[in-house]
Amino acid sequence: MKAFKNIKSLNLEELKTWLKSFEEKPYRAEQIQNWLFVNQVRSTAEMVNLPASILSKLDESFYLHSLSESQKHTSTDGTIKWLFKTHDSFYIETVMIPTNGRYSVCVSTQVGCAMGCTFCRTAKMGFLRNLEAGEILEQIIRVNWHLEDSNSLSREGLAAKVTNIIFMGMGEPLNNLDNVHRTCSILHQQKLFNMGKKRMTISTSGIVPKIKELVDRNTPCCLAVSLNSSNNQQRSSVMPVNDVWPIEALLEATDEYTRRTGNYVTFEFVLIKNITCTKEAAKELVRICAPRRCKVNAIALNDGDNNSLQTPSEIEIEAFLEIVRAAKIQITMRTPRGRDIFAACGQLAHKQGKESC
Ligand code: SF4
Repeated sequence: MKAFKNIKSLNLEELKTWLKSFEEKPYRAEQIQNWLFVNQVRSTAEMVNLPASILSKLDESFYLHSLSESQKHTSTDGTIKWLFKTHDSFYIETVMIPTNGRYSVCVSTQVGCAMGCTFCRTAKMGFLRNLEAGEILEQIIRVNWHLEDSNSLSREGLAAKVTNIIFMGMGEPLNNLDNVHRTCSILHQQKLFNMGKKRMTISTSGIVPKIKELVDRNTPCCLAVSLNSSNNQQRSSVMPVNDVWPIEALLEATDEYTRRTGNYVTFEFVLIKNITCTKEAAKELVRICAPRRCKVNAIALNDGDNNSLQTPSEIEIEAFLEIVRAAKIQITMRTPRGRDIFAACGQLAHKQGKESC
């Protein structure tokens, strides 16, 4: 069996194989998953219908939890950012964004990132390692624990739980597709998290072959693509991935995604003063979007570490939006959340990827 460290990384069949290796009954696998993902237990002592023999094997073989809370920051707008420490002393960040009784969680999929987008603080860490599915799921479970402990309420006035997952924290999710696919599959299972595929969004910088693989695997999720510019020269200047898969190749992949899944694609567009937030850029965006089933999420650049990139003024943003809206393109201007705690888009990074010994 693959050497996962976190018990939550295993799917049902793998749990059954593990149980079989010490002659335990396969039905125990469902019981374990129920404790992990439905009851979301905090210790093995809570798993009361499992025999001590299984619990001691579990403790010997896996971490029940492999993240620990290192820091927690709450924004004035209610957004919370956690810094979690992994079992091997790396740091990752997770952000919860509450909106009218809905709780969206932006999860990390890697420690650092190899993609080098110039507007993103995570890029400065470089790539350190992939996260296991169990480590991605644990971020969501830990946010659920916070909601439970703080007696938060859903829109219906019931005990709150995470309602939406966005794979847009640290890392390029499609560079860790095995674990991201595994995570989405567990979240989607009715008996476990029962998370509908419209409530999970994978956001990619544009890894073209992996977009195709996502369709082949039928991963239960929606797709967002960081477009950020509509011409190759400009896009390459902020996103090196564009040198490998330019806009034409990217659009071919997203068209195939739409054709084969029936879902539209969301294009993310960071508005950067004098670069992507100009009238010419708006017209180019219209040229791309007009013939396609898509929508655009625009967001103004957040202050990062790159002083050469600036946030556009409100007047410049309005001028951009006016051109796009006049062409009847569906565009939403996202309100930045958690800016004061560096939890907004492009602001996630830990100064040291790994704790020094
Ligand atoms: S924007 Fe996303 S893909 Fe680009 S460097 Fe940052 S984390 Fe990686």
